[in-house]
Amino acid sequence: MTRRRIILLGATGSIGDSTLDVIARHPDRFGVAALTANGQWEKLAQLCLTHRPDVAALSDPDAARSLERALAGSGVSTRVLCGEAGIIEAAALAGADTVVAAIVGAAGLRPTLAAAGAGKRILLANKEALVIGGAVFMAAAAQGGATLLPIDSEHNAIFQCLPQDYARNPGASGVRRIVLTASGGPFRTRPVADLATVTADQACAHPNWVMGRKISVDSATMMNKGLEMIEAHWLFGLSPEQIEIVVHPESVIHSLVEYVDGSVLAQLGHPDMRTPIAQALAFPDRVDAGVPALDLVRQGTLTFENPDHERFPCIGLAANALRAGGTAPAVLNAANEVAVAAFLAARIRYTDIAPACAEALSRLPTRPVHALEDALAADSEARAVARAWLRLPEAA
Ligand code: NDP
Ligand code: MG
Repeated sequence: MTRRRIILLGATGSIGDSTLDVIARHPDRFGVAALTANGQWEKLAQLCLTHRPDVAALSDPDAARSLERALAGSGVSTRVLCGEAGIIEAAALAGADTVVAAIVGAAGLRPTLAAAGAGKRILLANKEALVIGGAVFMAAAAQGGATLLPIDSEHNAIFQCLPQDYARNPGASGVRRIVLTASGGPFRTRPVADLATVTADQACAHPNWVMGRKISVDSATMMNKGLEMIEAHWLFGLSPEQIEIVVHPESVIHSLVEYVDGSVLAQLGHPDMRTPIAQALAFPDRVDAGVPALDLVRQGTLTFENPDHERFPCIGLAANALRAGGTAPAVLNAANEVAVAAFLAARIRYTDIAPACAEALSRLPTRPVHALEDALAADSEARAVARAWLRLPEAA
């Protein structure tokens, strides 16, 4: 058994916490080569003392200086890097084979691309990277000899239900379609008329999962499921018609694959991100993730319903963006990032999020994506349109 050395991008976040929990359970199998974050230097300093990485990187230069001071004289010889360049350097660090891509949002795109170019084994949580630059990202991964292992729970479930040689010949696999399950979030049954006044904390109070605040809002609007359709399209080479969404409030079935013979394979488990993270970290082996056994009898019932498109207009917006292709998903993602950040800062209403995305999609023409620059140009145009429509100041 080779001991895997892990580069963890987004180490101070929710996926970061879950990943380090799994790693710490198996010191014989996993070691930490690099940890990165944005500005939370105190938390990163603590993590450096515990996990002793070779490298730590913070995108905020002031925070990086504080981290350097905090580690000086601590007996830990971690080298501190800073800025986006520092994160990118950490993402491609030699001597480490696995990168956990868990930065939130578009900020994760370039570091994850660097890992792809360096031929790493990439455990992908940062779905926004695929939504913005899917074609570019998949090409970079193929060219760099990188392996993609999804840790988004739905995509990890699909990965586990597909044949192991699926990627080599998807056409021969007999897959008819996949079903992405969705919890429906905290507002599944709340009167639609009340949604204009819900707060950020209410939107982040997810019934089943504990996650970072951006993805929690995406789960409340179900934009998360829309982004996941686009993610599934790129990861598994499926057409929009082959990707279905079913609301399953218990979050026990994490997704399903239907085959042409009528067989439907599903992956079940407690809603705990340590399961997909451990599956991908150890793949093809299996390791204890610290997750309790699933008690089906105690669970009793599993229920399913169709998504309500009036309540969750973001699903339709994402499906349209996926069908339109080109820059449309990047536009959708960028407008959503602007709107969600503004909602979390209590500057706009929850019900402004979907219209801001719709506005950016209808105002900006869909162009082909030949190179990363095409997607990034669409990203910044969409941010400007969304900001103007939401009447936010330029830099908000
Ligand atoms: P969190 O907000 O909890 O953590 C985000 C991490 O990214 C933090 O370490 C943060 O650093 C870092 N970060 C933020 N902005 C930047 C930046 N500009 N440059 C460098 N690093 C940055 O998010 P989650 O862990 O919840 O989610 C991470 C990703 O995983 C998202 O793409 C999400 O969609 C995906 N995902 C998450 C799941 C979950 O259960 N949480 C489930 C499935 C997918 P700092 O703390 O210093 O700000
Ligand atoms: Mg998910």
